[in-house]
Amino acid sequence: MSAETTTKQKSSYVLGRAEVRAVERVSPNFVRITFGGDEIAEFGTPGDVFDARIKLIFPPASGILPPLDRDSDDWWGSFLAVPEEERGAMRTYSIRELRVSDAGTEVVIDFVLHLAPGLTGPASLWASSASVGKELFLIGPRRGREERGGIEYAPGNASSVLLAGDETAAPAIARILEDAPRDLRGHAFIEVPVAEDILPIDAPEGVEVHWLPRGTAAHGLRLIPTVLDYLGDDDTTEITVTDIDGEDLVWETPVYSGLGEELEDTGVSTERYFWIAGESGVVTTLRRHLVKDLGVDRGRVAFMGYWRRGVAMRG
Ligand SMILES: Cc1cc2nc3c(=O)[nH]c(=O)nc-3n(C[C@H](O)[C@H](O)[C@H](O)COP(=O)(O)OP(=O)(O)OC[C@H]3O[C@@H](n4cnc5c(N)ncnc54)[C@H](O)[C@@H]3O)c2cc1C
Repeated sequence: MSAETTTKQKSSYVLGRAEVRAVERVSPNFVRITFGGDEIAEFGTPGDVFDARIKLIFPPASGILPPLDRDSDDWWGSFLAVPEEERGAMRTYSIRELRVSDAGTEVVIDFVLHLAPGLTGPASLWASSASVGKELFLIGPRRGREERGGIEYAPGNASSVLLAGDETAAPAIARILEDAPRDLRGHAFIEVPVAEDILPIDAPEGVEVHWLPRGTAAHGLRLIPTVLDYLGDDDTTEITVTDIDGEDLVWETPVYSGLGEELEDTGVSTERYFWIAGESGVVTTLRRHLVKDLGVDRGRVAFMGYWRRGVAMRG
């Protein structure tokens, strides 16, 4: 048997220890953390990153990272194989920036700090006290192996885009706009807790970025009416917090339906493309208005629940 046939093909994902290289409190509700390390050297979506999602595994209360099988092709199975009390917590994040150079690979993530008692979780708590040298596990596509791994943003030939989301979607929106062709046209609506959370985005000139600090308003009550008003829905004054609902974590894109809806191939389209992410009830409410009231073709929209009020995520 030749050496070639005995060499095990590396999995298409990297599951590796990532070490904190830098921590920057960029605003009251965001902390920007840069990760690096030998075990993530081969991590990276080939080409543009857009809204690529990755998984992070935070250590349990002991602070000791779980003994994961890092060579397995099945990262979810490796995680579940560890007893629950040693496993820590897996959560999903976006890549704010990916730096690949001869010196190695660095991944920058913007973490939202939601720290109010009863409304926080292991990821946010870990990020709030992260310091240089601390470690977690990062799971994402191995460079060159997984084309478009974890990327949902797919505007095709759209003449313009409408991106909308809350603070958890802000890093993905920023990355999309920085990776987009410079002649992209459209609007981005981003609801954040306070005006100091407005962060610089190097967006194409033809995309207007509207930051919506919510202040004391309920989550979504700046974003929903602003987007609907922009789209010409004249019913927006009636939207209150009781209209914001949704049973499950919504995930409805042109190529996948969490609800099991039939997907139509809309083919090559130049119509506007919509990308909407954030708290699931807010996204579901926007979906209802866009698809049912405004007649937007669901095949032109990605609606993604990034988290759900009152529910801890499971990975
Ligand atoms: C594809 C994708 C990309 C994402 N990208 C990012 C990103 O780049 N940055 C980022 O910060 N988040 C991002 N998120 C959201 C993040 O995964 C969730 O907010 C996650 O719940 C955080 O985990 P936790 O352990 O802090 O809280 P959990 O243990 O999951 O939840 C504990 C409690 O906190 C509440 N909660 C969770 N998130 C928030 C929040 N943001 N504000 C207020 N309450 C909250 C929950 O409702 C629950 O009551 C992304 C999610 C997805 C699916």
